[in-house]
Amino acid sequence: MKSNYKKIVDCHMHVLTNEEFNIYMKTACADKYINIRGLYIDEMLDPYDFEEFISNDRMYFIDSVDLNDVENELIKIECDLKKYKRIIGIKIYLGYQKYFANDERIYKVVEFANKHNLSVTFHCGEIYDDDGKSSYLEYSDAKYIEELAKKYKNVNFIASHINWPNFESLFYMCSKYDNVYTCFSGCNDGENKAQRDKQNKVISEVINKYILKYPNVKKKIMYGTDFFAISDEYNDVSSYIEIVDMLNISKSEKDDIVYNNVCRAYNIKF
Ligand SMILES: [Zn+2]
Repeated sequence: MKSNYKKIVDCHMHVLTNEEFNIYMKTACADKYINIRGLYIDEMLDPYDFEEFISNDRMYFIDSVDLNDVENELIKIECDLKKYKRIIGIKIYLGYQKYFANDERIYKVVEFANKHNLSVTFHCGEIYDDDGKSSYLEYSDAKYIEELAKKYKNVNFIASHINWPNFESLFYMCSKYDNVYTCFSGCNDGENKAQRDKQNKVISEVINKYILKYPNVKKKIMYGTDFFAISDEYNDVSSYIEIVDMLNISKSEKDDIVYNNVCRAYNIKF
């Protein structure tokens, strides 16, 4: 897909196999991708099959941690880090696992991330059940990341999905803490072009409103799609880049959102 941007990183997508990656590439406009494994919580927490993508050096990885088994999970990730150089973060599924971001289990994960120079990505905001129905749980509110952001200044935290629909607490933290970032992946579940266009308008209006209120969040917002191959709503990601086009910011600030902010959030030049 063509776009107005030279370099684009999709900061949040999910593919398990090269077959799924080929579906992604049909509508993707990014040239680098951060792959977070799985769709359902069981799969999300399965170990990666990194070998599947070993030859794709444009793909980077976020490993996931099952909060019910933190010690063993971190041992597994430590082994993976030695073998695979393109692991750049750890994902925690707030809401899907019923813990707040300031839970003591998560402190262990953040200590580990601090030691290994990894960023920590949270699922934030609404969660989806197996039937695709969304609901909101207090557990996944980004506001509980604040304690971590204060204590671990060298760790970057990514509160995904702009904490939908609790935008105020999210943008406040992105503005206040240098190490808190966000992305608008997964916020468009329109089933056809007309619905997607409508939802893109809603998403861009939300972001424009908070950019006015907290101008420095322009350096904190990232482009991401939340691609899932098996979901009709999420397997066509062509419209996502239009959200960036619709923001009331300069061209270079748009380049930040599709590329530079992602580099800073994950401490890497893609
Ligand atoms: Zn996701």
